Amino acid sequence: MNKVDYLRISLIDRCNFRCRYCIPDDAELQYLLTPELLSNEELLKLIREVFIPTGFRKFRLTGGEPLLRPNLVSLVEAIAQLPEVEDLSMTTNAFLLEKVAVDLYQAGLNRLNISLDSLNKETFDQIIGNYGKSRWDQTWRGILAAYDAGFNPLKLNVVVIPGVNDSEILDLTALTLDRNWHVRFIEFMPIGNGDLFDERAWIPSEELRQQIRERWGLTEGEIQGNGPADVFQIPGAKGTVGFISQMSECFCDRCNRMRLSADGWLRPCLLNEADQLDLKTALRTNISSEILQQKVQHLLDIKPEVNFKLREMGSDLGQYSRTMSQIGG
Ligand code: SAM
Ligand code: SF4
Repeated sequence: MNKVDYLRISLIDRCNFRCRYCIPDDAELQYLLTPELLSNEELLKLIREVFIPTGFRKFRLTGGEPLLRPNLVSLVEAIAQLPEVEDLSMTTNAFLLEKVAVDLYQAGLNRLNISLDSLNKETFDQIIGNYGKSRWDQTWRGILAAYDAGFNPLKLNVVVIPGVNDSEILDLTALTLDRNWHVRFIEFMPIGNGDLFDERAWIPSEELRQQIRERWGLTEGEIQGNGPADVFQIPGAKGTVGFISQMSECFCDRCNRMRLSADGWLRPCLLNEADQLDLKTALRTNISSEILQQKVQHLLDIKPEVNFKLREMGSDLGQYSRTMSQIGG
């Protein structure tokens, strides 16, 4: 059985983008109010007294958009200073990154994953739901600032959407030729997005690999990372190309993670709401850390049986009520 030692922590459910694959066009989102979010103190207490004692060692900060979280740098610093924390990373859309990249690096953030779905400004704005001045340039400056600050390698996440950005696979892959960037193509998950779900809602990673193989050649999966991505490389390239294929190649059996929502719900699996734990209410009603450890341990014990198999859910996925930005992607 896989060791589960990785926690994805959503810091906030709000976002400054409205990516069409993440937030359906017609979604009326009810955002959490500040008192409903776990405070920095509560989060640190949970990490120190509950998650570390139950074996968690790797933490990823996400959202919504984590850069919208007030006092983010001091929170990062406090988590990074805990001696048991082996890896602290963040997933961001990079729009607000330029000014804060150096501070985050110096605060002890080890790694950054940045979402970048297109190199074409129009397509990018269309995907993120922006109808004003293009947001691509500022996002790109955020990416470069992160690389210059020392986030090396830098991971770029691309959600592949048929008919929208699938014509850019080779251009995005070419970013790995001269820089130590890891471009990762993610199969679109039609979660909460019933309208976008059809037979071709997602493109199997193997089709993308075939395109890249024909253009440059590709090592055959010799480089394996720790996470769900299958990692390949163009011969001679500085960076790598990864594929996260949760739709075509279910990797639930090697899942090593749980998710904590911004309002303190711990989920054993991305889509499993039935077994989630309300840690915020427990904290606020002074349930002891020992009891919380037992509850988390129970969730760890049952996780293999309660992992959802995305592929098997079929079109039920589209009816799923929460968006990725709310769950904490
Ligand atoms: N706002 C940050 C960002 O976009 O990087 C962090 C949160 S976002 C929910 C985390 C990741 O989830 C992003 O890489 C995004 O592309 C991915 N994501 C969101 N909705 C998705 C979907 N329906 N299918 C696949 N990936 C999705
Ligand atoms: Fe896009 Fe991330 Fe915001 Fe979702 S949370 S809308 S993926 S930027």
